[in-house]
Amino acid sequence: MSEQIKLIVEYQEIDKNLKLIEDEVNGSEEAKKYLSARKFLSTVKETLSELESKAQTVTENYNKAVKDFEEYLEKAKEYEKTVETCENEEELEYLKKKFLDVCAQIEKMEQTVNALSKEMQDLYNEYGKLAKSNNAMKAQYNEYAPKLEELKNSKKGEVTELKSKLKKLEESIDKTLMEKYTLRRKDKKFPIVFGLDLSKKSNHCPFCMMSMPISFMEDLSSGEIKECESCHRLIYGFEPNKK
Ligand SMILES: [Zn+2]
Repeated sequence: MSEQIKLIVEYQEIDKNLKLIEDEVNGSEEAKKYLSARKFLSTVKETLSELESKAQTVTENYNKAVKDFEEYLEKAKEYEKTVETCENEEELEYLKKKFLDVCAQIEKMEQTVNALSKEMQDLYNEYGKLAKSNNAMKAQYNEYAPKLEELKNSKKGEVTELKSKLKKLEESIDKTLMEKYTLRRKDKKFPIVFGLDLSKKSNHCPFCMMSMPISFMEDLSSGEIKECESCHRLIYGFEPNKK
């Protein structure tokens, strides 16, 4: 096994402990509550102002509909009055028809007003619910932000020690190899480096089981560290009896 492979395997062994701590912190109740509150609070203002502007539009439409409704009512009354004094048969027929038209409009406007009124009520309820959640989430944030900080602080010593070990080791590792490793680590892939026992004559990736081409296997045999095309893990070959 080449020196570089030994080093990166050693690096990963130490990094594993760091990853365990990270996973423990990220998976904790403290982190989950903190993050969900932070996510909510980062979007709630926008949602509230969207609701406000929606409510404004609905209110304007409602006021206009109510005004139209009243105007139609007024017209209906006028027709009614005219009918009482009208003596011409033909004109009476005409007025009757007009009156019925206005009545149909009134009915339609009534439905519109009711629908808008319901929409306003729904918006009001939604706003109320959101405002309530907002208060609850603020409280959650204030409670869990310091708790998470406390949890992180309790691991600080261990983390600092591991990080300094990694940093020291990193100095001896080939830069390109280190970059590849770091990139995958950021992608939350772990473990990253896998050894393939060449004595078993298998050409499958030890992580994702994808079969690898002959040239790939030859490179492994000659001591190279290669990237699996499917899972992008870093693969090296070894033979248990050879040092
Ligand atoms: Zn793979």
